[in-house]
Amino acid sequence: MELGLFSLVVDDYDEAIRFYVEAVGFDLVEDEPAISSHDGTPKRWVVVRPPGAKTGILLAKASSAAQRKVVGNQVGDRVGYFLHTDDFDTDHKRMVAAGVRFLEDPRHETYGKVAVWEDLYGNRWDLVQPALDSPLDVNGSTGTAADFVPTAEVQPSSTVEPGGAFPPTEDVADILITTEQLQARIAELGATITADYAGRNPLLIAVLKGSMLFMADLMRAIDGPLEIDFLAVSSYGAATKSSGVVRIVKDLDQDVKGRDVIVVEDIVDTGLTLRYLLDRLSSQGPASLKTCSLLVREADQPSDVPVDYVGFQLPPEYVIGYGLDVDQQYRHLPYVARYAKA
Ligand code: 5GP
Repeated sequence: MELGLFSLVVDDYDEAIRFYVEAVGFDLVEDEPAISSHDGTPKRWVVVRPPGAKTGILLAKASSAAQRKVVGNQVGDRVGYFLHTDDFDTDHKRMVAAGVRFLEDPRHETYGKVAVWEDLYGNRWDLVQPALDSPLDVNGSTGTAADFVPTAEVQPSSTVEPGGAFPPTEDVADILITTEQLQARIAELGATITADYAGRNPLLIAVLKGSMLFMADLMRAIDGPLEIDFLAVSSYGAATKSSGVVRIVKDLDQDVKGRDVIVVEDIVDTGLTLRYLLDRLSSQGPASLKTCSLLVREADQPSDVPVDYVGFQLPPEYVIGYGLDVDQQYRHLPYVARYAKA
């Protein structure tokens, strides 16, 4: 079952359509002549709906004294409706510019970023961007690698152009994650981290060399103060199988004591690298310690290392590009591709 429609009693069809479509940004899905089953009078059947949503709102013109009484006050003075967005800032800005009245500044709650607004009659709505770990977030991707819900299933999206000089097709098979997909997802991660760390000054620690490009894009997607530092570890060397050996090759410049640390990784495979780093960092007394990985590999036995912010879930294939190498090559490809010789 699914919630198909609910009614919002309005004074006038056209002014209600104008508000919900032009100012709020909903689609007008139906606007048909109809006859009232209640008293046989002509009416209109008007349905609006947020773009891409399944549940619609029937804009129902008040036709009795009882109905006129509830216009703008359908649930008393409570917030009656909850509009979810995956990009709060953009929708908030657009709605404010279109004249929607917000009753407060955006605030951060444990369940997400939220602000109350009212419609043309005074019905109250929340605009909410659910936090990544909130039960409200149907697309969420927080948790351990074992229990996160994928935000983006990785599918080969295109084949590297045959005949091009670089990269050679015998090394680089199909592109798994395009530049556009990378940038769109990183913008989402940046918005979430911005909301989660509002009022704080997180220290982002990138694990070299693989997470260099991800770090550069992620930090630019975060709208707030932050600092960065780098760690270099030895992991795979020239082979494409995890050695399980993690060695610090370059240590941090900064002290993490009392800092809100986010470890930025390129890929979590067995989780050995991240586990080692988390143990090491947590012994140095950070105020908080979270992890963000562009990629997490799907595995039969997923690692138990918590990944708080996940970009993409990856099929069990060795990948290169966007920071990831094979024999130090291909880090500069602007996409993530399947390594053909793995
Ligand atoms: P883990 O310790 O989680 O098994 O491995 C993490 C490290 O292994 C990553 O930071 C990365 O350096 C390397 N790695 C794991 N999978 C891949 C892959 O598919 N491609 C590349 N280039 N490196 C990988």
